[in-house]
Amino acid sequence: MSAAFHGAKYCWMNGEVVETKDALVSAMEPIHLGIFEGIKAYVEEDVLGKGRLNIFRWKAHVDRLWRSAVVCGLKIPYTKDELLEATRKTIRRNGFETNVYIQPRIWPRADAPENVHVVIPVWPFDTLLGRDNVRFSKQRKFIVSSWRRIASDALPPQSKTWANYANCALALREATRLHYDGAMFLDNRGFVSEGTGACVMTVRHGEVVTPPVSASILESVTRDTLLEILPADLGVPVAVRDITRVELYASDEAFLCGTGWEITPLTSVDDISLGDEYPGAVTRRVAEYYTEILTGRVEKYRKQLTPVL
Ligand code: PMP
Repeated sequence: MSAAFHGAKYCWMNGEVVETKDALVSAMEPIHLGIFEGIKAYVEEDVLGKGRLNIFRWKAHVDRLWRSAVVCGLKIPYTKDELLEATRKTIRRNGFETNVYIQPRIWPRADAPENVHVVIPVWPFDTLLGRDNVRFSKQRKFIVSSWRRIASDALPPQSKTWANYANCALALREATRLHYDGAMFLDNRGFVSEGTGACVMTVRHGEVVTPPVSASILESVTRDTLLEILPADLGVPVAVRDITRVELYASDEAFLCGTGWEITPLTSVDDISLGDEYPGAVTRRVAEYYTEILTGRVEKYRKQLTPVL
């Protein structure tokens, strides 16, 4: 089994670094009330001849964690800076010199529900971006799921709650059962919403279009970054508006964006090929530039990188 399922050797739990195998809780924990974040740290090559790890957009992620906690009525007993130090300490203790995924998890304690457990598991990941053009260009055939994305007035997708991911698991199971690579959600109104762990962007006639937050999507940090860099740095116009299912089919390109999925191009949706070229030109350009930002090569975005070591 990969480290992603076990976590790395060490994690941080309730104030200290512990071996992940010892990060144990009661079987009676109220697990449905948990929230989490998904954050990545990327290696910056050639800092004084050796790699350095930088967390991408720590502040945006930790602010969202605090918003999720407010929505779910959880009180986090640490400051944001304390969680940053905890994260740094955990990464250092594991001795990582590779890209690292960081997944803070918070949920009420079974023995004292007004208090929470705060755990920070970390593990290395392989990026889709960068030099590995083979993985980036792999064919990805998606379906529109028959499951709708959870509505904002039922289980708000804007809060990163584990319960929301049961909806994603159903859509993924459907895709797997039908031998597709993944699924896209429509929202409860029938407009395109998001993927099962990433937002979606389409490209049509040179314009990037992505659904609004009111289409039952997570307020994605990656989407926010791309909405800034596309027009400002790459000269690509963007529109945030509802997208119909047929517009998705008629896209010249479509890609998923998110911390986990990074930038993942889609080959087809419901067996309808998207555009003539795969991955499309805009998707490639965005992926290349986003990689430069993540690895510290774009000066003006270096302030969004928080060093670990
Ligand atoms: N939507 C969902 C449902 C997600 O789980 C994620 C991953 N956090 C995203 C979108 C993308 O968000 P971000 O760019 O902040 O990782």
